Amino acid sequence: MQIGKLVTDWYAAHGRHMPWREGQDPYRIWVSEVIMQQTRIEQGEGYFYRFVDRFPDLASLAAAEQDEVLKYWEGLGYYSRARNLHAAARQLVETHGGQFPSHHEALLTLKGVGPYTARAIASFAFGQQVGVLDGNVLRVMSRLLNDFSPVNRPQTRRKFQHLIDGWVAGQDSRSFNYGMMDIGATICTPTQPGCLICPLEAVCQGRKAGSVQLLPQKDQKLKRKVRYFNFYLILNEKGEVAIRQRPTDGFWGGLWEIPNEETKRKAWEKKESEGGGRFLFELKHVFTHFDMMINTFMLSAGAAPAFEEVQFISTDKIAIFAFSKAVLNIFENAWQNMD
Ligand code: SF4
Repeated sequence: MQIGKLVTDWYAAHGRHMPWREGQDPYRIWVSEVIMQQTRIEQGEGYFYRFVDRFPDLASLAAAEQDEVLKYWEGLGYYSRARNLHAAARQLVETHGGQFPSHHEALLTLKGVGPYTARAIASFAFGQQVGVLDGNVLRVMSRLLNDFSPVNRPQTRRKFQHLIDGWVAGQDSRSFNYGMMDIGATICTPTQPGCLICPLEAVCQGRKAGSVQLLPQKDQKLKRKVRYFNFYLILNEKGEVAIRQRPTDGFWGGLWEIPNEETKRKAWEKKESEGGGRFLFELKHVFTHFDMMINTFMLSAGAAPAFEEVQFISTDKIAIFAFSKAVLNIFENAWQNMD
């Protein structure tokens, strides 16, 4: 039996129900896909509801200020996703009459929309017969095909994309792609695949060859980069804290932060800072491409070096501004230290 039919039949009986799978509104599908990238479903769900509650459609998102959009993203990380979502909403309103294109290649022209998201919207909202490759689906395919090509290589993705586009042909595109993702997430899991309950068992080459536990193969990642920072919690005589807004490019673009500067590893390890102040604690924040090691220092405004474009706000106003998770952690730890 065809792989496509096996998957769609299984999905009809066992697929997972998720709020954004009900209906075919491209806007909700797009928002959910962007939120769920690199986010656990349990965590992402709350963000999704809050986001679409405040910005129920393209027009409301396009009309919003970036600061407010970032506020609804606060704590979720990867803030370029929120900035791109906002920019693409404006792009759609300004140049596409507020309508999503229905073909994945046209969707690729939107800011921040890559091959995965374009195909997800094209399939889930418009039924276009294209395969959607996420990390779970790549794992299922490498086992199903008993293919030892590293799944993090572009040429492997291209090969798998071509194959999965063939499997979806003639099937209900939504059911097939959701089915493949669900099999990957719930049955063909990384360490304990449930082959005995898998709808693909009869056609699974990896199962036949006894190589399931060896797949998928991946190229080793390069050693992670580590960067060292000093963050300054600067308080004035009224107990207000100094904050500033980051430029829109680079990490945490457009978010608010406390003054900080990058430093050398040796000085960081000695807890020395050019800005002076009392050392409070260290934290680690993990980005996709590097680890950020943070020393936090506290100092009074009079003794602090001049940082550009700083404003002081009372601590009860912190909730109004959008901060990164790292800075929110600094606030939380600092207030605990003071108790
Ligand atoms: S039979 Fe096992 S290895 Fe093959 S796709 Fe199903 S769960 Fe994965």
